Amino acid sequence: MREILVLIEDLTDGPMELAAAARIIPEARVTAAVVGEISSPELLTSLFDSVIQFPASADGNWDAEYISACLLPWIQAEQPYLVLMLQSNNGLDLAPLLAAQSDRPLLSDCLSMEFREQGLAAVRPLYGGKVFARIAAAECKNGYMATLRPGAFGDSNSTPAAPTGGCGIQSEAAPQDFLAKRRCLETLTPEVGAIDIRQAEVLVAVGRGIEEQENIEIVEALAEVMGAQLACTRPVVDKLWLEKSRQVGTSGLTVKPRVYLAVGVSGSFQHLGGVKGGPFMVAINQDPAAPIFATADVGVVGDLFDLVPLLVEKIRECKG
Ligand SMILES: Cc1cc2nc3c(=O)[nH]c(=O)nc-3n(C[C@H](O)[C@H](O)[C@H](O)COP(=O)(O)OP(=O)(O)OC[C@H]3O[C@@H](n4cnc5c(N)ncnc54)[C@H](O)[C@@H]3O)c2cc1C
Repeated sequence: MREILVLIEDLTDGPMELAAAARIIPEARVTAAVVGEISSPELLTSLFDSVIQFPASADGNWDAEYISACLLPWIQAEQPYLVLMLQSNNGLDLAPLLAAQSDRPLLSDCLSMEFREQGLAAVRPLYGGKVFARIAAAECKNGYMATLRPGAFGDSNSTPAAPTGGCGIQSEAAPQDFLAKRRCLETLTPEVGAIDIRQAEVLVAVGRGIEEQENIEIVEALAEVMGAQLACTRPVVDKLWLEKSRQVGTSGLTVKPRVYLAVGVSGSFQHLGGVKGGPFMVAINQDPAAPIFATADVGVVGDLFDLVPLLVEKIRECKG
């Protein structure tokens, strides 16, 4: 039976996604590793075949060097066929280090994975999500490692593909003689501001298609009439048209609205990576080939400068 090790970073979406992804290898035995406290042990013990827990790092922060030092002896002893973690900021820090130290190929940012007798293949985005590439790891007797795009393998609302029967949690020792080569000085929390788009049920997200700051009022009017909060893509923040606390995406905030209306947004993976919970998504874009249409439930191909004022007018009419 093949062994898989998944690294749990937090208990929101991660465990479900990693459990779902691990099931690509039939009848594998899946061990979840946690470094530090486990706030919800029942979730992990019901999802995985075994759970191992390492002590937190000395300062309690996520420390890729420390975590690699924790996992490496276990990996060398157990030789799991596959090591999985999310392509989060922390996963990005840890995966290349651990792959190099454990001498196994790394497939990063996987949207899907395919298990073959000769090894592992995956699909990953390239060029900011404009194309998808099929990649394969060179055959390796040590096993493989992969990072998964958050949201690509189901989310916290989905049921794990094959829940297991429950297991115990085994405590593992901290690495001996661990000496960090770097240390965390401070953790900076992004300013959220008066508006917290993470709490919004309905979001209108505006992208570079809005062309200039003066035009933002067009989408503000739409958000207002819909009772929605205004969110945006990163270029809109980079151009200082809206504040950072409205940015959705991998380098912005993660939102979980019920309805997401994207206006002039192309739908890059960095943007959509921040949209969780499977909202009802409507996209207005003049380019019929825009990637956002692959994700949207309803797509409207057209010029936002024509459509948005019309939509505002119609909603006002309907509201009387
Ligand atoms: C490390 C990294 C992190 C990143 N993090 C984030 C992040 O957190 N969030 C984020 O959003 N991006 C992020 N990005 C940037 C991301 O790659 C994309 O560049 C960005 O999401 C694109 O924003 P956009 O859709 O507004 O712009 P564009 O990609 O330029 O899309 C504009 C869209 O508007 C449409 N359009 C133009 N005019 C009209 C019109 N008149 N009517 C209708 N449609 C029109 C166009 O067809 C186009 O599809 C990150 C990039 C990197 C490298």
